[in-house]
Amino acid sequence: MSRRLLAFLLSELDTIRLICQNPACNGIAEFATTKLALGNHQCRFCGFSFMPPTGTMTPLDVLGKAILAVQGIKDRVEVELIIPDKAP
Ligand SMILES: [Zn+2]
Repeated sequence: MSRRLLAFLLSELDTIRLICQNPACNGIAEFATTKLALGNHQCRFCGFSFMPPTGTMTPLDVLGKAILAVQGIKDRVEVELIIPDKAP
């Protein structure tokens, strides 16, 4: 049985941290959730693309807009995110 390590409401989320997965960079940039959907398509440090290799979907735009949309209905539903503790 796993224990709950951390749980928080999506409505409490106000900062997103993007961690570049270019091994030569691994730069970290923080954004207000209200700013995530504003064209974060590449690493601000090395220019590594955050876009999928094919297609035109902009995942970070979609995530930013989804977070704001769900936060906008918190008087109707709260979304709680839970990170389980997988330690024995
Ligand atoms: Zn980078």
